[in-house]
Amino acid sequence: MSSFDDMSKFAPATRGVLAGRRAGWTGTPEHPGAVVNPAVWRASTHLYPDMAALRAHPANTDGNFYYGRRGGPTQWALAEALTQLEPGAAKSGGGTVLYSSGVAAIAGVLLTVLRPGDVLLMTDNAYEPSRVMGRGLLKDFGVETRWFDPTDLAAFEAACCERTRAVLLESPGSLTMEVQDVPALAAAARARGIVSVLDNTWASSLGFAALEHGVDIAVMSLTKHVSGHSDCMMGSASAGEEWYRKLRLRAQGMGTVVSPDDASLMLRGLRTMKLRLEAETASALAIAQWLQGRSEVARVLCPMLPGSPGHDLWRRDFTGGCGLFSFVLNGGTSAARDALIDALDLFGIGYSWGGFESLATPVDPASIRTASAWPLHGMEPGDRFGVRLSIGLEDTADLIADLDRALSVWAAHGGAA
Ligand SMILES: *Cc1c(COP(=O)(O)O)cnc(C)c1O
Repeated sequence: MSSFDDMSKFAPATRGVLAGRRAGWTGTPEHPGAVVNPAVWRASTHLYPDMAALRAHPANTDGNFYYGRRGGPTQWALAEALTQLEPGAAKSGGGTVLYSSGVAAIAGVLLTVLRPGDVLLMTDNAYEPSRVMGRGLLKDFGVETRWFDPTDLAAFEAACCERTRAVLLESPGSLTMEVQDVPALAAAARARGIVSVLDNTWASSLGFAALEHGVDIAVMSLTKHVSGHSDCMMGSASAGEEWYRKLRLRAQGMGTVVSPDDASLMLRGLRTMKLRLEAETASALAIAQWLQGRSEVARVLCPMLPGSPGHDLWRRDFTGGCGLFSFVLNGGTSAARDALIDALDLFGIGYSWGGFESLATPVDPASIRTASAWPLHGMEPGDRFGVRLSIGLEDTADLIADLDRALSVWAAHGGAA
């Protein structure tokens, strides 16, 4: 186990075990690689052996000690591991920048790419804080954001103009889970000199190789799948050489640094991410299928489920799924939906997702969207009360029994079925 240099020859499962474990970061000079995991290097000050070394100014790359704001071995190990799991970044001499949260990663990327006077195009099913960024932070810095229908390539092309500098994609999108034709959108953007940024939190690099599908910058909220244990927040952006360098400098200029303790937690989560995602995907698909057969449910919005919006694109482009999907109740009222969610014993009520524990939240995108309709095309106008489930690692049959009981409560509270 002396060198993991040529990581690309290994399958993702193997890379997930080996990635980031440089011998110098997992041992001492006398015993390199002596322990499995990188230590938690808590350091602001880095010491130089002599003045000549201080004056030599180490190159500004991960792996060179300089000062705590440039990170240390624990953060470098996490960044390197994420790069090694993103084939497009690992191959092109690119890399990964870490941010204090997923939202900080999106802000850090957009503030690197955009300049005053630019137009940003944003998919209409983007994560709500991304939309808020368009209306607030970016507007204040002179950037105009315009939204487009996530599944309409022609609408995207029609929305492009001279001033369009970047597009923010998210696939499947938040709440409504439409899958975008990311390769086509990224290619259309590139043909016009527009930078494509993908919020790839849902699939992670294991489920969708963003850069290899033509995306310029892939963002993840590590808070979700990489942590996997609902105890830590962080974000990342991975890119090829040119954008990686620019993202890194902008992040450093903004004073961005993550804690080594958190980086260590993220590395711990990363090692089991593939297994968790596979288990959650299988359980979510079984639950989605069960919900699809229920009269109380009008529509299941789950890309892994045949017949769901975006399923064909998901099959074409993705190598995996996750436990997050939504379903829409067959009519009813907002109060009946509240009663349903309150009746669930095994699902916590809370934002976030991707942890080992199941969660449920209401889905009400109508007031958020501006460029596409809710209910979605093909749905009845009254079928608009959605529920988003994040399926964790509980037993699938137990979760189904919990949902079964909660659907009866929904019916008793005036649900239509
Ligand atoms: C949660 C989430 C984010 C933000 O991540 P934080 O780490 O919570 O800041 C970004 N995008 C999507 C799709 C998310 O679900």
